This record gives sequence, structure tokens and C-alpha cells, in this order.
Amino acid sequence: MAFTLPTLPFAYDALEPWYDEATVRVHHSKHHQAYTDNLNKALEEGKVETTSVESLLKNLDSVPMALRTRVINHGGGYFNHNFFWENLSPAEKTTPSAFLKAEIEKYWPSFDAFKEAFSAKALAHFGSGWVFLVLTKEKTLEIIDTHDQICPLSLGYEPIMTIDVWEHAYYLKYQNRRAEWISAFWNIVNYECVEKRLKNALSK
Ligand code: MN
Repeated sequence: MAFTLPTLPFAYDALEPWYDEATVRVHHSKHHQAYTDNLNKALEEGKVETTSVESLLKNLDSVPMALRTRVINHGGGYFNHNFFWENLSPAEKTTPSAFLKAEIEKYWPSFDAFKEAFSAKALAHFGSGWVFLVLTKEKTLEIIDTHDQICPLSLGYEPIMTIDVWEHAYYLKYQNRRAEWISAFWNIVNYECVEKRLKNALSK
């Protein structure tokens, strides 16, 4: 089966002023589209049949060696961007529920302390990559960063929330000021989605 670029759950300009229309448009319609196309091309050339990108990324050992790097890069790029868009929303929906707050506060002294730790990881990440809140195999929460398009699913984690810190994710509006992009991100997090993912991952 061929993968398709998902439609965004909001308009390109819906995240203004935090996330500008031009960046969201090019990020989705050019970058995410390219990962989608390149993943499809790799799977077609390698004659790999799959039902989900998640199963590919969780079982990289079963992907033919000649194809593995392309699946890590483009399959990861495809999944990570799907995952990123889903956990964004226009600013009026961005309050964590009591449940989410309580789960976070099992691991960080306060929700603000968690946000600070996540932001610090995102700011310190060197080069292109992602920062994720993940659930570990032991069902504990951690903040991790990954390079390029490496997906937490390939590392045995359940991803819960993410920010893209590739320059293409913020350069048009924020240029070299990654800290401003990270701070803007907190205004457009879809906590409903984050909570749903966490509940799902905890119940597995
Ligand atoms: Mn990106």
C-alpha cells in the first residue's frame, strides 16, 4: 500500500501568530510530502509490503538491509510529522487536564518544571532532530531527543508528545532563534491529543 500525506486537522494559518502560515504550509506540503513520497518510493523499489508505518519502524530488523536507512529517514519523517501535526492545535485548546497534570507531576515537581525540562532538551539538541515525551517499557515518562528522523518507536518507546527542532520547522519566522520557537510551541500544544495518547499507552 502507498502512504498518503494526511490532511492537517487545522488550516495553514490557524496557528498564527505562534506558528506562521508560510512555515506550516511549506513544512506540510513540501517537507512532509517529500518524506511521504520517498518512503513510498523506497518500499516500492524494495518490494516491501506493509500495513503500517508503525510496524516498519518498530521492526527495523525485518526491513531489508539495503532499504533500512531509507525507511529510518523517510518512514521516520513520515510518522514523526503525522505525530507532530496531531499534537498541535489553535491556541484556545491548550490547557492540560487534571489527569495529564497529575501524571506529569509523578515525574517532575510541577507542570511548569516539566515544560522547562522539555524546552531545555529542545534548545540543547545539536543539529536536526526531535524532542519527545515518551512512555518507557516500564511505563514511566521520560523526555528524550532523537537525531534526524529517528522515531522513538524504533527505540522501544511509546511517543506521547513531540516538537520538531529541525531548522525547516521554524527558520522562516524565527531564523536562528530556536528558543522563541520552543516558547511559541507551548501556546499551540493539543493537550487533548497528548492525554489521549498517554491513556492509550498506559493501557497497553
Ligand atoms: Mn519537520
